[in-house]
Amino acid sequence: MTSYATQIKSRGYDELPIITRPNKELIRIASLIEPFLQDEVKVKTMRKKEVLAESHDFLLKYFRLRDIPYERKINILTFSFEVSRYVHPFDLPVKLVGDSDAFYGCSREVLLFGTGSEVCSNLRYRWIELSKDLTELAPLAYTHEIIHTQLNHIPGSIEDYNNVEFLSIFLELIEAYESPNYNLIHAHDFYRLRELKEIIRELENNYDSSNPKIQDVLLEGTSYLHSTLKAYHLFDIYVNGDIDVRRTIMVGIQRVLSHFMSVEELLAYFNITYENSINEDIFKKHVRRSL
Ligand SMILES: [Zn+2]
Repeated sequence: MTSYATQIKSRGYDELPIITRPNKELIRIASLIEPFLQDEVKVKTMRKKEVLAESHDFLLKYFRLRDIPYERKINILTFSFEVSRYVHPFDLPVKLVGDSDAFYGCSREVLLFGTGSEVCSNLRYRWIELSKDLTELAPLAYTHEIIHTQLNHIPGSIEDYNNVEFLSIFLELIEAYESPNYNLIHAHDFYRLRELKEIIRELENNYDSSNPKIQDVLLEGTSYLHSTLKAYHLFDIYVNGDIDVRRTIMVGIQRVLSHFMSVEELLAYFNITYENSINEDIFKKHVRRSL
């Protein structure tokens, strides 16, 4: 087992994931995305305060968020120790980091020794990172990370490691779609679909590699692949759905965020699987929007 696989296992997902070999339909989606990536999209810069406020407004319009376990390192002279307490996710520190693309985001977590309990694992959050190039994409990246903080420490809220990114990516899409800024969903798709295309190519070219480092990259890539396809699938249902369908989706997500339901139960409710999410027609709509 590679180091990354061990890490996945220690986070309590049901089964150890395996690397997906892309099929012909999936490779066609990658080819469909390629021309869409010819022109880099332009995005406007934003101030940190505006970035955070935009994401707060979006999330609080739809959801009640839960407090999360936060761990902070305290240094006094030569001593350093950690303190933990529960905080609102918006109170997690946000650090801006360089050398990252405009859509970068990461929630820094620490996994403590011990097994944790059934209701709460031994995972704590430390801070959220965003790119120091703050643009219109940053509120989406921040929303993405806030959603991670609602689920990653709750064992069973996500059973399958391949669904770890699903809800975060879906809500980025909704936030971009509902923005009065028409350019935003296009800018979002540019980054998200570019990543999807790169993952498919990576899996296509290196599926048979026995190099453990490459296998780790492909394991993580597989999770992004499954999650991205399913997120665009649910987004398609949302966009084409009437007000009742849209409400049902958002209520379902609240149930997941409140830990009454798993991400897998939400996906099953809408009959979303990896296989039926490999749908060229869904992606055609997104690449066409740019023309
Ligand atoms: Zn993520």
